[in-house]
Amino acid sequence: MGSTPSIFYKWGGGIGPDHLTIETAHDEFLVTADGREIIDAASGAAVVNLGHSVPGLEDAVSDQLADVSYLSLSHFTNEEPERLADQLTERAPGDLNSAFFVTSGSEANESAFKLARAYHRERGNDRKHKIIGRWQSYHGATLGALSASGNTARRDGYESQLQGWPHISPAYPYRWEHDGTPEEQAVAAARELETTIKQEGAETIAAFIAEPVSGASIPAAHPHSVYFEEIRRICDEYDVLFIADEIMTGFGRTGPLFAMERFDVVPDILTIGKGLSAGYTPISAAIVSDTISAEFDASDPDGGSFAHGHTFAGNPLSAAIASHVVAQYTNEVLETGRQRGEQLVNALEPLRDHPIVGDVRHAGAMIGLEFVADRETKQPFDPDLDVNGRVYERAMEQDVYTYPGSGSVDGVAGDHLMLAPPLTVSEASVEAIGEAVVTAVEDVAGDLE
Ligand code: PLP
Repeated sequence: MGSTPSIFYKWGGGIGPDHLTIETAHDEFLVTADGREIIDAASGAAVVNLGHSVPGLEDAVSDQLADVSYLSLSHFTNEEPERLADQLTERAPGDLNSAFFVTSGSEANESAFKLARAYHRERGNDRKHKIIGRWQSYHGATLGALSASGNTARRDGYESQLQGWPHISPAYPYRWEHDGTPEEQAVAAARELETTIKQEGAETIAAFIAEPVSGASIPAAHPHSVYFEEIRRICDEYDVLFIADEIMTGFGRTGPLFAMERFDVVPDILTIGKGLSAGYTPISAAIVSDTISAEFDASDPDGGSFAHGHTFAGNPLSAAIASHVVAQYTNEVLETGRQRGEQLVNALEPLRDHPIVGDVRHAGAMIGLEFVADRETKQPFDPDLDVNGRVYERAMEQDVYTYPGSGSVDGVAGDHLMLAPPLTVSEASVEAIGEAVVTAVEDVAGDLE
């Protein structure tokens, strides 16, 4: 090992001086070696929904380690992944009754794409293979997930390796240019899907993927509920599967357990990760409708096969951890998350009329701030000014960790900051987060003058 750590890390390729070493964590706090306590106002990357001190986990882990940690699900099963699948499908909406386990959010979406393709192939529609995504969405870093993603900053430099799948506009009411009421705008935006399906040919489209409430690229942006009703209608009409990417929004982040419950629309596949284990182990899943799983009925000699899987999928140790975690998402915890989200938005009230803040939006305990150079025209800042990065730095100086989003995507999206504290964050910490962020924005605005 040289004088710099050997970790090869994203963005810069290495661990830099701005990386703080965290020795321990508890509740909503990250603690450095010299005892500095940082409030984790982003739950990591919107992962640690229950904070860093979930009770009972140590016993769950040691019990499972003593029993069995790893099994290949290709040939063996175990009560832990089975229990977890039952827990998830009992609480998932509609007929989403089968859980396919993998390890990361990207893999969950990759699995959903291949499953959509396999489903159509089983039904004799071999040409249905494309996935329609939305610009400024993020569905993962792997090539398939990135192909469906519309986050241009993360696609940049890899376009030649990506599938040429189509994208429609994001559900981004703040920047929609459609005329009419919020409902009319939402319907107009959703109809872009219909136009794109017709242009591409419905016989080539396997699925449409969307985050119900947008995550890192345009945090907390979400449409009027008629948007997803219209999306559902269009998908049904053209035999296109609807994949709801709830990797970030699942597990209480936006209020209900799953964000699709906000819209009362049931997708065909719902992908989950992050909050599924709340950061205690890497695990994710695609939860699949009865209509899809029926095509792959193992007891039917004519049933289809889904030749896809990952080594660590559904390992009993991760499943035991996730099962313990999922049981913590009680109605009380979800309600606390909603209340803390409201409290935080109220604490940010001074920013609503602030000259550099164009939008303060939220869904449950996910809050998005959008910075603009001009509130009238909604003109974004020059990306080189790195406004959200500067706000992030100023908040960190006050021991509050926020999530600066992908910001300044092509200079079109504006600069964003996401706040997504654990649902269990204390009221005192919410006040501290609000004060730190308001101060940070005011300071940065002052510097920009
Ligand atoms: N989908 C959404 C909505 C996400 O926010 C993310 C990660 O931020 C992913 C997918 C990818 O998940 P992972 O980083 O676990 O592969």
